[in-house]
Amino acid sequence: MAPHIRHHEMFINGKHVDSPESDEIRDPATGEVFATIARGDVEHADAAVSAARTAFEAGSWSRLAPADRSKVMREMADRIGKEFDELVDLEIHANGATVRQATAFHIGYAAPHLLHFAELADSYQWERQVPTQAYPTLSTNVIRQEPLGVCAAIVPWNFPLLLGIWKIGPALAAGNSVVVKPDEKAPLTLLRLCEIAQECGVPDGVINLVTGPGPTVGARLAEHPDVDKVAFTGSTPVGREIMRLASGTVKRISLELGGKGAQILLDDANLDVAIDGALFGCMLYSGQICESGTRLLVPDDMYDLVVDRLVDRASALKLGDTTDFDTDVGPLISARQRDRVLGFLDSARASGAKIVLGGGVPHGSRFAEGYWIEPTIVTEVSNDMEVAREEIFGPVLCVLRYADEADAVRQANDTQYGLSAGVWSTDYERAIDIAAQLRAGTVWINNWHQIDAALPFGGFKQSGVGRELGEHALDEYTETKHVHIDLTQRVERHIFGALLSEPLR
Ligand code: NAD
Repeated sequence: MAPHIRHHEMFINGKHVDSPESDEIRDPATGEVFATIARGDVEHADAAVSAARTAFEAGSWSRLAPADRSKVMREMADRIGKEFDELVDLEIHANGATVRQATAFHIGYAAPHLLHFAELADSYQWERQVPTQAYPTLSTNVIRQEPLGVCAAIVPWNFPLLLGIWKIGPALAAGNSVVVKPDEKAPLTLLRLCEIAQECGVPDGVINLVTGPGPTVGARLAEHPDVDKVAFTGSTPVGREIMRLASGTVKRISLELGGKGAQILLDDANLDVAIDGALFGCMLYSGQICESGTRLLVPDDMYDLVVDRLVDRASALKLGDTTDFDTDVGPLISARQRDRVLGFLDSARASGAKIVLGGGVPHGSRFAEGYWIEPTIVTEVSNDMEVAREEIFGPVLCVLRYADEADAVRQANDTQYGLSAGVWSTDYERAIDIAAQLRAGTVWINNWHQIDAALPFGGFKQSGVGRELGEHALDEYTETKHVHIDLTQRVERHIFGALLSEPLR
């Protein structure tokens, strides 16, 4: 192994744990291996679940006062801030984000979002008393929110730290133990988060990280009888499989899956905002975001004008060194993903669509290595084409025509997905009316990618189950318990007579 390639281990029960096998972590911009990670197996998943269960039962985190959990989590958020540059660097090299995007989103959102969950631990209504009731017997009732137990967090490579925090944050705030399964291509920022958690006082076993292939390690966590909840972000087919595996022990699940977001450009849109905004909505992080707006619906009579302006602006996007603040667009995550995107573009050409910008690997020696695709605009797309129906996960904007508003809404909703949608318009009443008709978990009017930790995020239809973030985020990581306290000591006031017909003598 070359001396500059650092090896990383899993994190189980507060200790680093190696395995005989490892996976290479490559910089997607160059294809070069810069680190390796232990490849875990089912036995590591089992060890992590066992450690998580033991820690949960011991109560040193699960029964800690919420305010004390909050304090530890605030320190963790603070540490993310202090290690910001190192985390940005790790993310850029593992998942190919540009430094501007990693700074703004991938790592930029991490500390504030963790802080949101720390604050929820403080403000959440853990217990509430219902007013005393006199009938049928004098009683008082308490409603409690209690931790679930062991939560598994299965996380993809696109925003590993952030999407991990969306699961680990509410799980820890509620007093659960966690087993994290990152994608093997980009596990290092989450590994660092586990170490930070321990350094800030999270007890051993409360947070564990197991690496390894999804179909072995991830699947084991999804089916494990001692895991109470699985939270997953990734593709819809894997989400379906996780739902099936989790059903064996009727686990709680939350799934955040694929998308095929439609951006509806209305004829009254401010085109300066809408053109730049549509490209931002689709091309950010090379289109590898589940909520990207990958279908742009344009009025028939504005189609040529809009396409010309899109091509003009998208031609100016700069590809290159991901560590350079001047770079706009980085690579895709892997050779497999690049080839998959090229396959979708072949399918678009074969079905009669036109590629008016990009469509291949960029020219130049810099792009010969690594996994690059040019920003691509596909026109004359109809909604039944594969390129309009499948989640491409690349910098590919499909431009479709619509006849009238009803047609735009019909096409926008004609998809198995329902994660995001949006409207570009200067008429807010019209835009809000359309937003109400769009079957998606988030609708942006005149913007995209606006994700706020205080507001719920998740999908309609096959884009998922449940919501992450928002003021109710801890509901997904707690069980609700009703405790009835009967205050009646006179046996004749009780309704035991429903069983015992003989009065007490
Ligand atoms: P994926 O769904 O295969 O992987 C996501 C996570 O699930 C990874 O940690 C993986 O190891 C794990 N996993 C895979 N198979 C599993 C199984 N059988 N049981 C349990 N866990 C399993 O995603 P991918 O292969 O990285 O990407 C493929 C496509 O998925 C992309 O092209 C894109 O369309 C979509 N995707 C969506 C998101 C999103 O944020 N919604 C993120 C990544 C990928």
